[in-house]
Amino acid sequence: MSIKQNLLKLKAELPQDVILVAVSKTKPLNDLMEAYNAGQRIFGENKIQEMVDKHETMPKDIQWHMIGHVQRNKVKYMASFVSLIHGVDNFKLLKEIDKQAKKHDRVIECLLQIKIASEDSKFGMSPKMAFDIINSEEFLDLKNIKITGLMGMATFTDNQAQVNNEFKLLKSTFENLKSLNQENCDLHIVSMGMSGDYKQAINCGSNMVRIGSSIFGLRN
Ligand SMILES: *Cc1c(COP(=O)(O)O)cnc(C)c1O
Repeated sequence: MSIKQNLLKLKAELPQDVILVAVSKTKPLNDLMEAYNAGQRIFGENKIQEMVDKHETMPKDIQWHMIGHVQRNKVKYMASFVSLIHGVDNFKLLKEIDKQAKKHDRVIECLLQIKIASEDSKFGMSPKMAFDIINSEEFLDLKNIKITGLMGMATFTDNQAQVNNEFKLLKSTFENLKSLNQENCDLHIVSMGMSGDYKQAINCGSNMVRIGSSIFGLRN
């Protein structure tokens, strides 16, 4: 099937309230344009330089989501345009995003990445750390960021029960933190689910899925 067909089929399947991030990392501009021409406006990339390059050449009504691990010294390259940063997993990074956003007179929306997988390789903070950050006084000083939700990645395994438990952990963490509304914190996004597990993620309460290979085909 073509990218357009994959995308339309997927969109027909997703519940209305679930936002689709088309994960276009490593894919050429032509592929992204095919998705764009089929109506897709939210794209996810995991490398800042690649996202910057694509942003420069692609139509300007695209919302670019940074879904990968973010190095602090590279925040400045995307601060003028990035629409949502999914992988914020420490306070120093949040401070840097705030600083760079201020230079552009913007408020950058961020998700706190929670470690829900058992694998060591997955980034993220504990639910407790997320709670502590949102409740800290230093956090309230960050006027140029806004925490709009949580993000997580389940373990890469065939064990469905484990994946379900991990997604449920993210959802319950979200429910616990949701009431902590501050000026710069308004939790309404639960970003979880990829090509292999998005149906389960939605069943567990996801309202933002990040899907790459089911739209664009396998990556090298
Ligand atoms: C690559 C990636 C995805 C998409 O993965 P697919 O299996 O191709 O759908 C989702 N989330 C993150 C954080 C990724 O790095």
